[in-house]
Amino acid sequence: MGKAPIIVLGSGLAGYGVARELRKLDAERALVVVSRDEARAYSKPMLSNAFASGKTVTQLGGASAADMAAQLRAEVRANTEVRAIDTVRRAIELDGETLTYSKLVLALGADPISVPLAGDAADEVQRVNDLESYARFRAKIEGRRRVVLLGAGLIGCEFANDLATAGYTVDVVDPAPQPLGRLLPGPAAERVEAALARVGVRWHLGTTATTVSHATEGLRVALADGMDLEADAVLAAIGLRPRTDLARRASLTVNRGIVTDRFLAASAPDVYALGDCAEVNGQVLPFVAPIMHATRALARTLAGMPTAVTYPAMPVVVKTPALPVVVAPPAGSDGAWETEAAEEGVEARFVDGAGVLTGFALVGAATSRKQALARQLPPVLA
Ligand SMILES: Cc1cc2nc3c(=O)[nH]c(=O)nc-3n(C[C@H](O)[C@H](O)[C@H](O)COP(=O)(O)OP(=O)(O)OC[C@H]3O[C@@H](n4cnc5c(N)ncnc54)[C@H](O)[C@@H]3O)c2cc1C
Repeated sequence: MGKAPIIVLGSGLAGYGVARELRKLDAERALVVVSRDEARAYSKPMLSNAFASGKTVTQLGGASAADMAAQLRAEVRANTEVRAIDTVRRAIELDGETLTYSKLVLALGADPISVPLAGDAADEVQRVNDLESYARFRAKIEGRRRVVLLGAGLIGCEFANDLATAGYTVDVVDPAPQPLGRLLPGPAAERVEAALARVGVRWHLGTTATTVSHATEGLRVALADGMDLEADAVLAAIGLRPRTDLARRASLTVNRGIVTDRFLAASAPDVYALGDCAEVNGQVLPFVAPIMHATRALARTLAGMPTAVTYPAMPVVVKTPALPVVVAPPAGSDGAWETEAAEEGVEARFVDGAGVLTGFALVGAATSRKQALARQLPPVLA
């Protein structure tokens, strides 16, 4: 009998990414990708600017599971939920089937955090974290006008911009006093707030949604400040929590994410984790750039060349065409923002106690300084 395959759980940017990188190094090794979704290769970041890029749901979906299987010379099992992992027997449990692995890669992603809400329509609140949930959201708003967005973070602001410029009436609710509260200092956030207001976004900051109920037409969202909003759809974008349940039940070490060292190795032999589900060397970084670095390092390790992941500074572009924003969140909280605001943009530098630049936020014309400032930042993981 041949050697058991490498099994990758998850077909997102992390799962398919590591499979692609592995194939560049090893054309032969038996490879299985298991995913509970349709296992289409798609670009998740495109979901929050699909209207701006003129894409329908069908156009957002990329290669099918069968195409990916051919491309990767792998077995791709779509619509297949992994129920349990046994790290002693080196096996995964599917419904009615057990597969053994030589190496196992957990690329399970993250779950959207749900909002505690009262009301007879609380379960109608939607979340978008994959192609299928985006398709449901698009179907819901097709031919309608009004969307209430819960959360003014990165994904909330991107959806707000996209929906508003597509002609929807968009109300955004967030308990913080400003949008992008965790990423931007006040003067930079004020610009984002004003720019999105100019494209029609209505802000409800410093308050929360308490109740979602059915109205005569659509839904009614009650806010803690006493205001009522009417909506055809309510979309929550209040954050993600790494999917750790399978790992926890398999007795793997889990903290905020599935804990790995710099080799992406989890706490059992030949088990690895990367992407939104993983906490790599103490950091959960749910973004494309760290995933790309991790896929390349892990592919080398899987191909027999143990390789630690390194991350350079990785500024994130916030996809708000109403006002360009780039952020490189500071690694720690030690330090302070130094902000220069001009009419055409804001440059904010986060400087630590020793005078070292550890993060930045650029808004408007100042985004042209992205490369120059990124070069001055220390690597996220040297
Ligand atoms: C709307 C939106 C916009 C974004 N924009 C940006 C951006 O502009 N820039 C940026 O850097 N980042 C962005 N991100 C973040 C980035 O897209 C994610 O970090 C990345 O796509 C995560 O990839 P992943 O493979 O780790 O997880 P996922 O893509 O979520 O994949 C998880 C996989 O695990 C599978 N799975 C889970 N549980 C099981 C199970 N029990 N059995 C079998 N399979 C299972 C799922 O089917 C899925 O295939 C955005 C995120 C969102 C939601």
